[in-house]
Amino acid sequence: MSQRLRVAVEAPQHSGLSAPLDYLSEQPIAPGSLVRVPLGRRELAGIVWPGAAEEGAAALDEAQLRPVLAVLDALPPLSKRWCELVEFAASYYQRSIGEVALSVLPPQLRELSPEQLQARLKKLDKKPKKPQAEASPEPAPRPEPPTLSPDQALVLARLDELLLTPGDTAPPPVLLYGVTGSGKTEVYLRAAEHALSQGRQVLVLVPEINLTPQLEARLAERFAGTPMVSLHSALTPAQRLGNWLQAHLGRARLVLGTRLAVFASLPELGLIAVDEEHDPSYKQQDGARYSARDLAVYRARLEKVPVILGSATPSLESWQHANTGRYLRLALPGRIGGGALPRVRLFDMNTLPRRKGVSTALSPPLLAALRQRLEAGEQSLVFLNRRGYAPVLHCAECGWKSECPHCSAYRVFHKADRTLRCHHCGFSQRVPHECPDCGNQDIAPLGRGTEQLEEQLAAALPGARVARIDADTTRLKGTLESQLQAVHEGEVDILVGTQMVTKGHDFRRITLVAAINPDSALFSGDFRAPERLFALLMQAAGRAGRDAEQAARSEMWVQTWHPEHALYRALLQHDFEAFARSQLAERESAGLPPYSHLALLRAEARTAEAAQAFLSAAARWAQALPEARDLMIYPPVPMSVARVANMERLQMLVESPTRGALQRLLWLWMPELHALKREHRGLQRWAVDVDPLAI
Ligand code: ADP
Ligand code: ZN
Ligand code: ZN
Repeated sequence: MSQRLRVAVEAPQHSGLSAPLDYLSEQPIAPGSLVRVPLGRRELAGIVWPGAAEEGAAALDEAQLRPVLAVLDALPPLSKRWCELVEFAASYYQRSIGEVALSVLPPQLRELSPEQLQARLKKLDKKPKKPQAEASPEPAPRPEPPTLSPDQALVLARLDELLLTPGDTAPPPVLLYGVTGSGKTEVYLRAAEHALSQGRQVLVLVPEINLTPQLEARLAERFAGTPMVSLHSALTPAQRLGNWLQAHLGRARLVLGTRLAVFASLPELGLIAVDEEHDPSYKQQDGARYSARDLAVYRARLEKVPVILGSATPSLESWQHANTGRYLRLALPGRIGGGALPRVRLFDMNTLPRRKGVSTALSPPLLAALRQRLEAGEQSLVFLNRRGYAPVLHCAECGWKSECPHCSAYRVFHKADRTLRCHHCGFSQRVPHECPDCGNQDIAPLGRGTEQLEEQLAAALPGARVARIDADTTRLKGTLESQLQAVHEGEVDILVGTQMVTKGHDFRRITLVAAINPDSALFSGDFRAPERLFALLMQAAGRAGRDAEQAARSEMWVQTWHPEHALYRALLQHDFEAFARSQLAERESAGLPPYSHLALLRAEARTAEAAQAFLSAAARWAQALPEARDLMIYPPVPMSVARVANMERLQMLVESPTRGALQRLLWLWMPELHALKREHRGLQRWAVDVDPLAI
């Protein structure tokens, strides 16, 4: 007798198939098992989903159901909790279960036949204790871990209590709040050690793996002998499969990964740590637009294990949860060794004599300060959030500017390879010798990027070794690592870069950090821009004076036209709490998150009218629902860069006082949106972003 099974398969979202599909099997197959099934004319990987197949009137006739083709039974089934996590993510972010379930598995796993899988597992057995991709060459003698500071000891004692909470209650999520250098990482390491010694697996999430090589090294050193794997998108497909299998089979005890690792299969999970929990990289920006930080919290609750969210500048969402007691706030109030935070100096750009065509990004006092560090043999870090030489090329005769023909944006002038490149669609051309419109030979860069800053620094400080790190200099694999190495080894005097250089690195020799022109975020249309800027500046400040003995001399310079701005006043005192208070007050009075819940409906089409028509129709439909009564559906507006690669992009904001009301509306809305898409032929794409980070 054959049985009905539910199988999650990766059906494209537009098919509207959001639930698992029914199949037949001769034998029972355990839920969570990987199978191969037919769909249309294709054969696909699927996962047998927990829960009974459709019964009764709605069920398809058995004759219409197709059989499961093969079972990959060499692999233990995915756990029920893993399936629950996927099911929650799919429902919360409005995607199909199959899409989420299959897209978070290693791509190679979806291609394997049962025989190939068996061969792969055999290969894994041959080199048991040596997970791939971990470059830990000679196991150096294990250094003694440091004695915990009294603050660390207190935090750890609380964490230990949570680790030992009886299995039937979920411990509260912990917000570990402490400035850079306050010893948060040491706390993760100790908590991990305790969870490992209880025979549990540990998951450590980081925003971007190549920006945190030191954390990886520290874990490898502390847990030498403990099988550890990493999971992130820079692995080869074979490495990713191998590492995933190690975790799934329970052989890897420690998993370090980026946002996709929140879905790693960890049958004995005992602890999750999310480092730099405020970082926007935790939000996936396409497909299922999930927040790995939020899913980590959900997963910890499902598994009833502790989760530690660490940051010097927590997201206002997490901060607010700690204020209301939903999260347990544990603080590390000072830097280890008592080191001071660098002194913040706001340089008022208004005090510079106004000359026409100011040509340097660097104020004379900042240059003097840099010169002083140089003479003392200390390093400086200068950052500017714009790569390339200049954001625009401009003809003073006729007003021509280097617009991208495909986007509503300027192409950036890159001097090194003499190109005009669009940072949105990638369109690139050689710099013209003369103005394409009027033939004027004198076309000039407007504004500046990191390339020009590097040039200006080298010219102003002869003899200084200036190095630049940004997306342009690190395109080739391995270049970022070698450039960082050079900074660590003292071969660089001044490091120039984009915000890439402000994250994570434990630079020991830097005593001066300078933000060249961070003001634009103060007046952005995105209500989260100040929060991001504050976090960025605090983090950048944290790069200076990591060495306690240098801390007293360390400085963070901010060149600004608005030195009186409240954000900078809070920065002067390194006062995240004051900043958070004022931001939360503003958010509350404006009804913004965390006091409301948002979703964005985005649409792309060849013409703005087509995108607009779709969104307006969607809005009309939703507004007629009783479920929309307490919600605000704003009119569609163009995105900040409205046209990219010849697609007009519009978005419509939905605001709700509660998560539940928003979810109910989205659930009703989705089938209608699929139907509307079929009616609106001109529409290219649409997507829903729940809890969007960039507005
Ligand atoms: P954070 O993650 O908050 O930036 P870390 O855990 O990296 O802080 O600690 C900062 C520095 O202090 C690191 O070099 C770390 O090795 C060291 N450190 C951390 N805890 C202690 C301790 N209890 N005693 C001595 N050094 C410590
Ligand atoms: Zn011209
Ligand atoms: Zn473009």
